[in-house]
Amino acid sequence: MIFDERDKPVRAIGTCQDITERMTAEEDLRRFSAAMDATSDAIYLVDRSSMRFVHVNEAACRMQGRRREELLALGPEGVLSTPRVELERAYDAMIASGVPAQPVEMLRTRRDGSQAWVELRRHAQPSGKGWTIVTVVRDITDQRASDEKLRRFRAAMDVSGDGILLIDRASMRYIDVNQTLCDLTGRTREELLGMTPMDVFNANRDTLERDYDAIIADNHSSATKVEGQYRRKDGSVIPIETRRSALLTDDGWVIVGAARDITERKASEDRIVQLYRVHAVLSGINSLIVRVSDRDELFRKACRIAVEEGGFRMAWIGVVDRSLMKIVPVASAGTDDAFMASVKGLFSSTEDLPMGNSKAAWAIREKQAVVFNDSQNDPRIVLGKNPTGSQFRSMAILPLIVAGEAVGVLVLYAGEIDFFHEQELKLLTELAGDIAFAIDHIEKQERLNYLAYYDVLTGLANRSLFLERVAQYMRSAASGGHKLALFFVDVERFKNINDSLGRPAGDALLKQVADWLTAGGGDPNLVARVGADHFAVVMPEVKRDADVARFLENRIDDFREHPFRLNDAVFRIAIKVGVALFPDDGTDADTLFRNVEAALKKAKARGDRYLFFKQKMTDRVAGKLTLENKLRLALEKQEYVLHYQPKISLQTGKLTSAEALIRWNDAQTGLVPPGQFIPILEETGLIHDVGRWALRKALEDYLRWRAAGLPAVRIAVNVSPLQLRSRGFIAEVAEVIGVDAHAPGGLELEITESLIMEDVKHNIATLQAIRAMNITIAIDDFGTGFSSLSYLAKLPVDTLKIDRSFVIDMTAGPDGLALVSTIINLAHSLKLKVVAEGVETEEQSRLLRLLGCDEMQGYLFSKPVPAEEFEARFLVVAVA
Ligand code: C2E
Ligand code: CA
Ligand code: CA
Repeated sequence: MIFDERDKPVRAIGTCQDITERMTAEEDLRRFSAAMDATSDAIYLVDRSSMRFVHVNEAACRMQGRRREELLALGPEGVLSTPRVELERAYDAMIASGVPAQPVEMLRTRRDGSQAWVELRRHAQPSGKGWTIVTVVRDITDQRASDEKLRRFRAAMDVSGDGILLIDRASMRYIDVNQTLCDLTGRTREELLGMTPMDVFNANRDTLERDYDAIIADNHSSATKVEGQYRRKDGSVIPIETRRSALLTDDGWVIVGAARDITERKASEDRIVQLYRVHAVLSGINSLIVRVSDRDELFRKACRIAVEEGGFRMAWIGVVDRSLMKIVPVASAGTDDAFMASVKGLFSSTEDLPMGNSKAAWAIREKQAVVFNDSQNDPRIVLGKNPTGSQFRSMAILPLIVAGEAVGVLVLYAGEIDFFHEQELKLLTELAGDIAFAIDHIEKQERLNYLAYYDVLTGLANRSLFLERVAQYMRSAASGGHKLALFFVDVERFKNINDSLGRPAGDALLKQVADWLTAGGGDPNLVARVGADHFAVVMPEVKRDADVARFLENRIDDFREHPFRLNDAVFRIAIKVGVALFPDDGTDADTLFRNVEAALKKAKARGDRYLFFKQKMTDRVAGKLTLENKLRLALEKQEYVLHYQPKISLQTGKLTSAEALIRWNDAQTGLVPPGQFIPILEETGLIHDVGRWALRKALEDYLRWRAAGLPAVRIAVNVSPLQLRSRGFIAEVAEVIGVDAHAPGGLELEITESLIMEDVKHNIATLQAIRAMNITIAIDDFGTGFSSLSYLAKLPVDTLKIDRSFVIDMTAGPDGLALVSTIINLAHSLKLKVVAEGVETEEQSRLLRLLGCDEMQGYLFSKPVPAEEFEARFLVVAVA
């Protein structure tokens, strides 16, 4: 066993030395030879001086494929086939250096021709007076082959992009790892080999053991995949995916694993989730926009969607208060009170928009999104570094831009670092755009509602709103058993001031008058602007008529004294007042308004400072009864007539349809306009019969024109609220159109907007039934009595008729024009046809055409005319 431990040649050589010194002893030599023969390494002993073999062993013979005698005869020169001089030089050099020669590996051809790797070790050993050269040759062919495999395997392991690990199942320790695993875990090979997977991987021993045993038991040949995390030496964590399989070795089961860094894949998966979240917010808010009609609700719900559906930690919306030049947070979700309080505090104390240097202010000024993808470490972030705020890591501030102005900001907080990337931002910008659109839409709608009820200049109620209010006051006066006084106030010289000082001065005067009237009355709801230079004031509770007179005397004098400042000059203005009392001068608001107007007119004509309507009222009550009788008889005497007013296309100028307008041909006074008798027909219920007559008559004319081969057009018939409300109305209409299959195509019903709104549900059902008969429906007097435009979308109507008052206002200024434009756009977006009523001038018609209005009706083209005239002028001509 001398050379068995080939790693320690010194000892082997040392052993040789001991033996050579006692070589003379026969027994020793025999034992020595036997020992040498027992080893598998070939051993040659060469005597330097004779250059002959002193000894060769069995293994040497085997390796050379020669007998011992043959080898001894060949000598080192023959065996090595090297010239003697060369050998001598090599041996001497070795002797001179005093150290053993470096082991040499070389390829040798065996006698059978096969190649063998051998390792050659040589050493010079003094013996007696000379030197013995000891040469040990070992066949390392097999070992080299397995070394090579191991080397290749390790090289492969080390270049692998996956971290490779072998774990001994029994001890649960790493028994081998490659370089990549060291890189992944941030540890050296040596460190890892002393560790268990539990030290590195985020799983406990039980779980891992169970996993490993399952792999061993189940299907150990195919790898199973698992995701997890490595805790690196520096404390950081990376996501990995490991494939594992089991291998049975001599030392038991070994778990072989390949771990892959999936940071990037995870990141892209997360990004997809992020994008999905943003998409969810976008679609949630888009569907919200269609439903919501209130700004605050929009803000509140948008924030909630961002948090609940989008998974954002927090969201808040702030609007820019232009008067204060500050951002005012108005809605939030996911925030706690403390956080919102600090947001509010920040903006109310330090935020000064034009100079503000907060990022929200910047976003508003630049109209651009601002993003922080690591807010915890961003010195620019002031808020949210408390325990509450530490929940978020990224933050985006998106400006809400309406008509080129940033009106607010949407601020979103995400829990992840690096949340807002280009794609998210694109979607979120779109989102901010949608919210802004909704704000715009809602504002326009609010404005429209506002304009329908308020006078823009003074902010006072307009006529229609005031009419409602007065009606309300009248009801409470009736139940309270007291009187009520209504005043109409005319501002004298207004036209004069307007013309001479200019419109701005005129506007200023009206505003000051409005202020004066509201200041004196206390409650601004008691005052309205009902005409260009006419105001109305209601005194809801009147005990005695004389109180009214005394009050008026005082107020009119005060007014006369009041200095109005216009264009730096002071003016004293006088007023004239008409008075009507409830219930004396009218039991409904309409009547009271008419009468108070009449009283004012009379006061102006007569130069009285104020005048009661009283006398006139008495006369009218007397006359009313006779009128009722007359109207009743008129139906029998066929005194009602229909006049037709054409509607024409603004595009082509061609006739499209006509409106039937009733007149009463009174034998005594001639043609009476409907405004004078329809209210009485309604009061007495006569409207049902007269209304039915009008429907029949209009259809009769239409069918006659049609039968005559004329290009008959659809006739619009006005329907009274009372008719629409009556139970039999649908059946009545069905009966009327039953006369001819073509009848429905010739009929349209005009229904006033305020009426539809009274009982929306019931009316929608009625209108649907009518439309199902193929009769079309128009909303009449649109803009005068509407409460909510959001209903418009629900109404089963075809046409919208813009009230004449809006057509008039349209040319008065940009507000009027914008309003008509909004109505037209809104109607078109709801797929409604728009007809403008009461078009009297070329300018109106031109503007309406520009605004995209579909049709117009008015004196400009034609007044309402008798049926025969309508036929001759518009139908026969069209044929000719
Ligand atoms: P309306 O439905 O709004 O009808 C339009 C009114 O404006 C008509 O007044 C028409 O003559 C008038 N008009 C048309 N173009 C112009 C214009 O360019 N300038 C001016 N200043 N006025 C124009 P009319 O005929 O006096 O009818 C007044 C109202 O009486 C109608 O208002 C409608 O509400 C009601 N009415 C008329 N016929 C009927 C009917 O058969 N049944 C019912 N229930 N009501 C009717
Ligand atoms: Ca009408
Ligand atoms: Ca109308």
